[in-house]
Amino acid sequence: MNHRQIFLQNMAQTSDFPLALEIEKAEGIYLYEKNGEKYMDLIAGIGVSNVGHRHLNVVNAIKDQLDKYMHLMVYGEYIQQSQVMLAQALTKTLTDFQTSSGLKLDNVYFTNSGTEAVEGAMKLTKRFTGRTEIVSCYNSYHGSTQGALSLGDEHFKRNFRPLLPSITKIHRNQLIDLEKITNKTAAVFFEPVGGESGVRPANPIYLKQLRKRCDEVGALLVFDEVQSGFGRTGTFWAFEQYEVVPDILLCAKGMGGGMPIGAFIAPQAIMSVFKDNPILGHITTFGGHPVSCAASLATLSTILEGNLINEVKRKAELFKKLLVHPKIKEVRNQGLMMAVEFDNFEVLKPIIDRAITKGVITDWFLYCDNSMRIAPPLIITEEEIRQACAIILDNID
Ligand code: PMP
Repeated sequence: MNHRQIFLQNMAQTSDFPLALEIEKAEGIYLYEKNGEKYMDLIAGIGVSNVGHRHLNVVNAIKDQLDKYMHLMVYGEYIQQSQVMLAQALTKTLTDFQTSSGLKLDNVYFTNSGTEAVEGAMKLTKRFTGRTEIVSCYNSYHGSTQGALSLGDEHFKRNFRPLLPSITKIHRNQLIDLEKITNKTAAVFFEPVGGESGVRPANPIYLKQLRKRCDEVGALLVFDEVQSGFGRTGTFWAFEQYEVVPDILLCAKGMGGGMPIGAFIAPQAIMSVFKDNPILGHITTFGGHPVSCAASLATLSTILEGNLINEVKRKAELFKKLLVHPKIKEVRNQGLMMAVEFDNFEVLKPIIDRAITKGVITDWFLYCDNSMRIAPPLIITEEEIRQACAIILDNID
């Protein structure tokens, strides 16, 4: 054992240790420490590095943008080419879809993060509908600021009350709870694939009923694809697999190829309530930063042109075929957003710890600590999947 392995083994004795790896360089699916140790990043910085770390296209796009300008002015004041091009490219991924009101998701508002996209969208739905109540699911995660936190899990809210009033919680995939969505509801915030709850794909029948209920009572349906977007699930957007189109779509994480950026995307008819009076809308200094937009545009084209999405399902199937063991209860997934379930945290934690000492980084989930998080860069090869799974399996007992 080298010192790092000993260190990690000691750290592993405490229940909640930081990884404490000192990474000097990251490339593709690998992280490298100063001492030469090499780690396979099977969680892609929590669903961020979908195209791998420091993809050349992304790095070059960043460099090109740096040679032009970084920050010019508070969001939206000048026409910034990389923002315009990214907005066009994003809406192009959505041209085939229309909302139940027959509208296209053709307007993009850029933010700094997923959380800020949630915040902006919450405000947008309130202004557009003139209503104040928001519905979200138990065990959902939408971010950590006070508005986004209000939508999330009780456990994380406890220490920060009072938070936003008028939040109604519903159980995912339970039709009976749809009655809680009423003509007072401004919007329902929903993850098509629940992320931090441990990869919980929506039931397709439920999702159609959710859409129907929102339409009946005039509530907006917001899909939070911060974790599931940008090819992660085997289609560019997870909602494409459901034939249910949201009124507002949120993205971040994988969007920036490693740079911070997020967005809420809505039809012009909805977004215009912000445009008519920006002061009563959402303001952000750095949201849609030109360098992040350039990185995101390169990420988006790399995903679409690099044939990455077509391979997601096949790679996920390979993981599932290999990850078979008496102690593995279930593998849940939507594409390469995967959760490998064990009996409990006490069984899972040593497996994660040992795998790290053998050079494979996995994790668990905020609201699901009996399942191993696997969300590798989409560029992972079959050979690498085989190596990673062998190491995980080797370390189960
Ligand atoms: N929504 C979902 C579904 C997420 O998974 C996350 C991040 N885990 C967020 C929102 C918040 O995004 P960020 O951390 O970029 O603010």
